[in-house]
Amino acid sequence: MMNFKKHLLFAFIAMIIVSCKKKNDEPTPVSPPTTTQKNPISPDGDIAIYTVNGDQLTLKEEFQVATQFKAFEDKEKHNELWAMITRLLPSDIRPQLTELLIYASDGGGFAYVAPVNDQDLSKWRMGFNLNAVYSGNQLDKSETGYTIIHEFGHLATLHAGQIDASVRENECTSYFPGEGCSRTNAYLTPFYDKFWKDIAQEFGEIGEDQARADAFYNKYQHRFVTSYAATNPGEDIAEVFTHFVLRNDQSSGTQIAGKKINLFYDFDEATTLRNRIKKGVDFNYAQLYSGRFTNSLRKRICVRRH
Ligand SMILES: [Zn+2]
Repeated sequence: MMNFKKHLLFAFIAMIIVSCKKKNDEPTPVSPPTTTQKNPISPDGDIAIYTVNGDQLTLKEEFQVATQFKAFEDKEKHNELWAMITRLLPSDIRPQLTELLIYASDGGGFAYVAPVNDQDLSKWRMGFNLNAVYSGNQLDKSETGYTIIHEFGHLATLHAGQIDASVRENECTSYFPGEGCSRTNAYLTPFYDKFWKDIAQEFGEIGEDQARADAFYNKYQHRFVTSYAATNPGEDIAEVFTHFVLRNDQSSGTQIAGKKINLFYDFDEATTLRNRIKKGVDFNYAQLYSGRFTNSLRKRICVRRH
């Protein structure tokens, strides 16, 4: 009995020593490491959310990942994609990009951008579906590069300097892409006026009817750089911006699709953006032009938002 009490006393003293030692000698972390606290599996296939600071990524949140997408937890893949994004988009031209979300899903498009907070269009998240841009361990640089520029096309045309989030749809006298009302000097304002206003009613009657959407595209093919561009004015301008960047020069054709590309040449800022992005283009994209008219997968680049 005595021995047992003695042992208890020793154990008690030892505990105090150990706990004091820890308290005094070891720094207490400010917050527990997030890597050990993964969120449950996300219905959208989210894998990791990073905070963007210039060219640096900091892990913010992680999710448990379904078995078939485990290969996309690989941080090297996240870094490979991020390296391509930073090569095409120098940090000073994307101050609005504050988060990168990596996800993997079968029907989740290629990528998307969405405001981190709907009331603040100065901070945006870009999501990338690794299941769409990787084939095994191989990143499809052409599709990925095209998609990065497309997503940047949304950022460039929807950020706070372009769209006023405080104006409601029924108060908007220009174009309302969903986030707010396009400002007078915004790219979307003349783009909508010149190229969409005359077909807006017909477009509005499509709703969710895929057969009507296909008929609309077939009727107005000459107006669009790709079939995906006919989705809505917001997707159209992102596709046109991508072609504006990747093409070697202005369109000399008389068709509306070419006039849309040329509209960007009226904006000094757009030509500056074009020249900066073009320096980072190290992938072959010519084959994407013809393929994009028929590739059904490409019909939905941006399923989750833009
Ligand atoms: Zn899009």
